[in-house]
Amino acid sequence: MIKTLKGRLALIYTFLFTIIALTVFFYIYQVITGDLNIRIDEELLDDAQEIVAIFESSGLSKAAEEILLEVEKEEAETIFYRLFSPQQELLASSNLEYWRYLPALPKHFPRIEENIYDWQHVPEHNFEVRSIYFGMQGDHILQIGVEPVENGNLFILLFETFSIAFVVLTLMGAFLSLLVSKRAMLGIDRLRDSFIRVGHGDFTQPVTIGQEGEEIETLIDTFNQMQHKIQTLVEELHNVTNNIAHDLRSPVTRIRGMTETTLTGQQNLSEYRETAGHIVEECDSLVSMVNTMLEIAESDAGVITVIPETVDISHMIHDVADLFLPVAEDKSIDIQIELPLEPIQVTGDKSRLQRALANLLDNALKYTSQKNQITLSALAYDTYVCICVLDTGIGISEEDQKHIFDRFFRGDPSRSTPGNGLGLSLVKSIALLHHGDIQVTSVIGKGSCFQLTLPLYMQCQK
Ligand code: ADP
Repeated sequence: MIKTLKGRLALIYTFLFTIIALTVFFYIYQVITGDLNIRIDEELLDDAQEIVAIFESSGLSKAAEEILLEVEKEEAETIFYRLFSPQQELLASSNLEYWRYLPALPKHFPRIEENIYDWQHVPEHNFEVRSIYFGMQGDHILQIGVEPVENGNLFILLFETFSIAFVVLTLMGAFLSLLVSKRAMLGIDRLRDSFIRVGHGDFTQPVTIGQEGEEIETLIDTFNQMQHKIQTLVEELHNVTNNIAHDLRSPVTRIRGMTETTLTGQQNLSEYRETAGHIVEECDSLVSMVNTMLEIAESDAGVITVIPETVDISHMIHDVADLFLPVAEDKSIDIQIELPLEPIQVTGDKSRLQRALANLLDNALKYTSQKNQITLSALAYDTYVCICVLDTGIGISEEDQKHIFDRFFRGDPSRSTPGNGLGLSLVKSIALLHHGDIQVTSVIGKGSCFQLTLPLYMQCQK
């Protein structure tokens, strides 16, 4: 039993090739032999009609003479004539010395003017004898027969040639089939090696795309995309795990430190209260971080159920601006709002969209120094709305712009500012959840512009 697909394919190809070659050979053989046999029969009929004509016009003796004349001595081994009476007596014949093993009596009794052909095996003859039996007047029977030696030899030659050609072609066919199926499977072999590598945790090497055909190429391409995605996810998971460990350690260490001081030190009630307050704050920020992480993960995995509602973008911008007014006033930052007169509405999760905008405004306030300005604006286009949060703050370097939407990323200039590097990741997840996107343009020292685009009529993920 052949186990490999290559072997099985090669076997099937060889089998089909053999069947086709056999059919072609058989057909050619039939056509050639059939044609040669027809020619023999025509010649026999011609000869018979000649003798019959003489018999009918000039009688038996003339016909017998003609028979002797027809068969020259050297021809006596290729053709014979026998003329039988209605009582099956041999009345006349050619030289029958070579044909002595012919049955004495005619084998067929055709009616007058009728002719019958047959093949007959005659002892001591290499090939079967082809005869015509012709019904003559007075129920006489004329038999003319030949041993088609040349044709027979030709058939043998044909058969031998075909047999050799068949064996050679079958071997070549088997070899070529093996080669073709091996070549077709090269891509699968490379894929198998890659699967083994992936099984050992190596996602780095993509499978090279060869010339094995569209199906295999598509398969390899899909595999490479899948491998790349897994690699990205694994790297992200690795980074996230490192970041979580790092970001959890600091607050937990701080909480432990405060608790230890409280346990060991001599403090009065108000100091205890103050420390407990700090611990509660740290715990709150930890819980908020964990909740944000969970929300991002759920949003990215598409397991969040969004109950779509109509959201008025102008209202939302005013609400969020009002929420941050005290902070803005504290820093003497002026929040400008620029909105078109006509209302802009989208369908989506109102509280999540509000949260996304709040995160953007919170960042703008965090990274903009005192007495500066922030502008919130919205513009509706054909199919989408663009909400823009423009600040005149510290700006973001081009290198940092590539990473600010990654989880836990914090730019160097913002290390001194409170935060956990999850805000923009959450904004991005919410934008994608609503089939929208978030982009940034920024110049160091001059400010940043965050553009949140949302489709005007959205189909939210379920
Ligand atoms: P966090 O603000 O908690 O650090 P975010 O995910 O909201 O986390 O932002 C990631 C980083 O992007 C910030 O650490 C900061 O470096 C940069 N950033 C975000 N918004 C602004 C902004 N408006 N101006 C300058 N830098 C910004």
